[in-house]
Amino acid sequence: MIGAGLAGSLLAILLSRRGWRITVYERRGDPRVKGYESGRSINLALAERGRHALRVAGVEEAVMRQAVMMRGRMIHGLDGSLQLQRYGRDDSEAIWSVHRADLNVALLEAAQRAGATIHFHRRLHTVDFDAGTARLIDDRDDQPEDIRFSTLVGSDGAGSALRAEMVRKAGFGERTDFLDHSYKELTIPPGADGGFRIEANALHIWPRGRYMCIALPNDEGTFTVTVFLPNHPVPGTDDPSFASVRSGREVHALFARDFADALPLIPDLERDWERHPPGLLGTLYLDRWHLDGRAVLLGDAAHAMVPFHGQGMNCAFEDCVALAEALDRHVPPSVPPGLARRALERAFAAFEAERKPNAAAIQSMALENYVEMRDRVDDPDFLLQRELERALQERHPQRFVPHYAMVTFMRIPYAVALQRSEVQREILVEATRGRHDLAGIDWEALAATVHARLPMLAQAR
Ligand SMILES: Cc1cc2nc3c(=O)[nH]c(=O)nc-3n(C[C@H](O)[C@H](O)[C@H](O)COP(=O)(O)OP(=O)(O)OC[C@H]3O[C@@H](n4cnc5c(N)ncnc54)[C@H](O)[C@@H]3O)c2cc1C
Repeated sequence: MIGAGLAGSLLAILLSRRGWRITVYERRGDPRVKGYESGRSINLALAERGRHALRVAGVEEAVMRQAVMMRGRMIHGLDGSLQLQRYGRDDSEAIWSVHRADLNVALLEAAQRAGATIHFHRRLHTVDFDAGTARLIDDRDDQPEDIRFSTLVGSDGAGSALRAEMVRKAGFGERTDFLDHSYKELTIPPGADGGFRIEANALHIWPRGRYMCIALPNDEGTFTVTVFLPNHPVPGTDDPSFASVRSGREVHALFARDFADALPLIPDLERDWERHPPGLLGTLYLDRWHLDGRAVLLGDAAHAMVPFHGQGMNCAFEDCVALAEALDRHVPPSVPPGLARRALERAFAAFEAERKPNAAAIQSMALENYVEMRDRVDDPDFLLQRELERALQERHPQRFVPHYAMVTFMRIPYAVALQRSEVQREILVEATRGRHDLAGIDWEALAATVHARLPMLAQAR
């Protein structure tokens, strides 16, 4: 396997436990020796899909011990007002903030306990698929190492070197659509008493139309703040952009104007802004994820997405379980060596057929959610639609499950969640058009529409 990040280390646990002999090559050093080297997203929102995969791998409890519950969105208005919008019906429907480094270390340790061998400081450089050899480089001294492999799994993230080699060999129709918005991360330290300085159990959002700021809690009392801005000025507006807000003075002025309640909470704002380059955001599309039985991609290497649904890792973890199960189905332990490659090809093809439409669905929902987070969460039409959504959910719990709940608290395929969400949105928009409240709604007619258009959900919560 190439890459011992989130997906790589989880898959190494799942496969090693099944008796596969797994060797993982990771570009970075061992995070337990010199700390975690990562340029991005210090914490992540873990939802049911990811938790389920951790449960299957036997590591859920260890991870959840350090997770911080986020029960809803805390909306910070321009006037400093605060409003908590719950994600679910109660605290059983929440998402969890986890520290990327702690999570990765917990998974690496479990992978090694399960029998996987992990080599750090090994960056995949080139692959000769016909000869079954790969070259790895130790970036500390540029020393190459050549290895032989029976099959390669690419869990090496959005910039996957294995994908580049597969594309070079066989095309694959690779395309990345970069968003014209990027992000920067900042930190809110703990208060003088070591506690959280703003509500701990929420995902904070400062929605400002075409841009926004969010903050997720960490268990040590800090928050990671992420600022999302357009890369370039938007004509006809005085909106900020990464091109117009460069210096510490400029970012101070932006926060004083648009995120005033956050400004006193971020003491290193100016310094961190000037030091960190903006992170790019994009959606990766590929026609295929595997090269017969010789290599397969998963996680960000196969389908990187924008982070606005908080599902990239969750989806990558679902991939790991799906790939392990496809291998169970198609590669029996007794398969003779001569037939193993064909069996692997069948397993990779089944994995791709199951996961590719679902990855495409969450990629598209993640793009849509950016508009919702930055622009719609404080909009009266949106709030009325949410109110109706809750009412319909109460009346028809097996049929009308809110979009966010289907993606976040359930494990129905993403493609099904997308299709049902589109139908539900039409129903909500139609029923609330021209209204300021739910008085006068024709509940009987709505019930008939719900029954006609939304079949019972096979997997309710
Ligand atoms: C700002 C931001 C916020 C996010 N928030 C969330 C969230 O809240 N919830 C969520 O579910 N997802 C979130 N994501 C998405 C999530 O980070 C990714 O989907 C997830 O990390 C994918 O896991 P992965 O293992 O596929 O890739 P990665 O975690 O990127 O791991 C790839 C690994 O491969 C290694 N590697 C790279 N190249 C090579 C090479 N040539 N040779 C050997 N090793 C190599 C890397 O060092 C790394 O360890 C967010 C992403 C961003 C950018």
